[in-house]
Amino acid sequence: MTDLEITDEYVHVGSAYPTSSYDGGYFRHYDCPYFVNRCPHCGGRLGFEQADPANGVIPGFTSIEGMYYCLWCDMDFSCISGAEHGNTGYFLTPYIPRK
Ligand SMILES: [Zn+2]
Repeated sequence: MTDLEITDEYVHVGSAYPTSSYDGGYFRHYDCPYFVNRCPHCGGRLGFEQADPANGVIPGFTSIEGMYYCLWCDMDFSCISGAEHGNTGYFLTPYIPRK
């Protein structure tokens, strides 16, 4: 995980090791998309977690994936596609960064 940004408006990570089943392959992805910092389920704020040994274990992160999760309802979302990991059909909202 590099270049993690979490602002009031959006979440973004420069690269991450996401899960294969939801995120298009278990390898490092670069230029991950921006998403609006709002849970599509409950409207809560998002956090990011990852603890892949290849990236170094980050204290406080419990997942070997790179993913966003809701601080309120704890739903997990892909950092590549924005898909919710439990097949609920929720997706994070794409965010278009202002230049
Ligand atoms: Zn939520």
